[in-house]
Amino acid sequence: MNALRGLGLWNSALIFFSYLNARCFPFREEKTFEQWVSNRFGKRLYHLFFRTYTEKVWGISCNEISAEWAGQRVKGLSLMTALKHAILNNQFQPNKKKDVIKTLIDEFDYPKFGPGMMWQAMVESIEQKGSHVYLGRTVEGIRWSGNKVEAVEVKQNGRMELVYGSNFISSMPIREALNKFKPEVPKEVLDAANDLKYRDFLTVALIVDQPALFPDTWIYIHDPGVKVGRVQNFKNWSPFMVPDSNKTCLGLEYFCFEGDGLWNMPDDELIELGKMELETLGLANKKDVREGTVVRMPKAYPIYDSTYRKSLDVVQRFLKPFLNLQMVGRNGMHKYNNQDHSMLTAMLSAENILGANHDLWTVNVEQEYLEEKKIGPAEEAVLDKILPAVLSKMDKIGLATAAGSVCGLLIFFATLWLTLQGGPASAYFKLLNQYFFGYTVSVKGAFLGLAYGFSWGFLSGWLFAYLRNFFFAYYIYRLRKKAELLTFRDFLDHF
Ligand SMILES: Cc1cc2nc3c(=O)[nH]c(=O)nc-3n(C[C@H](O)[C@H](O)[C@H](O)COP(=O)(O)OP(=O)(O)OC[C@H]3O[C@@H](n4cnc5c(N)ncnc54)[C@H](O)[C@@H]3O)c2cc1C
Repeated sequence: MNALRGLGLWNSALIFFSYLNARCFPFREEKTFEQWVSNRFGKRLYHLFFRTYTEKVWGISCNEISAEWAGQRVKGLSLMTALKHAILNNQFQPNKKKDVIKTLIDEFDYPKFGPGMMWQAMVESIEQKGSHVYLGRTVEGIRWSGNKVEAVEVKQNGRMELVYGSNFISSMPIREALNKFKPEVPKEVLDAANDLKYRDFLTVALIVDQPALFPDTWIYIHDPGVKVGRVQNFKNWSPFMVPDSNKTCLGLEYFCFEGDGLWNMPDDELIELGKMELETLGLANKKDVREGTVVRMPKAYPIYDSTYRKSLDVVQRFLKPFLNLQMVGRNGMHKYNNQDHSMLTAMLSAENILGANHDLWTVNVEQEYLEEKKIGPAEEAVLDKILPAVLSKMDKIGLATAAGSVCGLLIFFATLWLTLQGGPASAYFKLLNQYFFGYTVSVKGAFLGLAYGFSWGFLSGWLFAYLRNFFFAYYIYRLRKKAELLTFRDFLDHF
């Protein structure tokens, strides 16, 4: 309803017709993000909803973003699935949290002072067990020979140190890692690594002199009239994120490339831009902003452009023979992983050192493509064979004929019996003529009753069988859809 109100009836109708048009006349080839999304949502929704935000995030035209990225992030989804999901899950089953996609959940657990707390706790746990976590050091070189890494050159406070090890796990950006190999990797591998690109990002954090501005944790800004792409309201993630409860801290997120106009803009200008855009969007008044700060984050997103796959394949092939080096995480694998999958790759890499044989490159891809299949073979068998066998279809004509015969014959014999025997019941039976035109308690009436009874019984039996079949078919359909919807997640999070 919120989307409908925002778009208006006319626009919504145009979106619907554009969707129908896309279903009837889709792009034959799906190579780009634009083609992929337009085929599933229609051109109009693509332009209104997907294009501006996606181009803000990636800084390249949607024609240059590969369809593979969309397939991975918007899997199993079309306009119809989105609508069905919105209606079934939010309208009729508001309490069934497990069915709700991540973006639509109202409540979730969040560390008091943010996710960094998890890593602080992990460091404590590691140190309690007698190991060490060394922070504030950068790996400047990776020394290798044959199919093994021998040591890493580590720099701290300008001092270089050589650290030898038996196993190495790297989560630094894969492009950077390949550039640090000593001796240098073959030229074709280095070229491929250098072809991997990243999108950078900066946050303008503004402190607003208002206790509450809006209830959301974040808002995606599709409006092409402003540069900001997303606004975080840190206090809504956790009230402990803002020390003064009378104030709000908003994080205005700008997607950029390291070294471009936005990235190089002085902090005070960025803060001014942030204030202005906040007011343009109607989220806060400029005059309420007390102060601000800027945080720049290079390599925030690995880019899936049209050449990345080929280049990553070259790098993967080069790294495969290495026995004691594993690449993990998001930039470490140049994969658009969220925290959960990044952590999973690292956890599996630890298991590999202990003797397991996980292929880390299939994490996320494997799981998500399995989800794309929607339901597994076991559920498929239940839905397609076992349930239809148990709830098998009722023969409509068969039931109609049986019900018609029983009704007709009952009325026939009852009328004959009353004609011959008489008695008070015949007065009641006569009332049947209010429904059966011309019916009397007589021999002729018995035949008429037989015909009427058969017709009504036949109709009722047919209708019953029809409704029953319909109900069970719908039931199986709902089970199937529910199984599919359970795998439908992560949609907007990735825009
Ligand atoms: C703006 C933004 C919002 C996000 N929101 C979410 C979200 O809501 N939910 C979610 O699940 N995920 C989110 N993510 C993704 C999440 O942050 C990543 O998936 C996750 O942090 C990846 O973990 P990682 O260990 O692979 O990489 P990182 O967390 O990037 O860790 C890599 C580490 O390697 C270090 N490093 C790099 N080079 C060197 C070197 N040469 N020597 C030594 N150290 C080096 C870096 O300093 C860094 O600490 C978001 C990401 C961004 C950018």
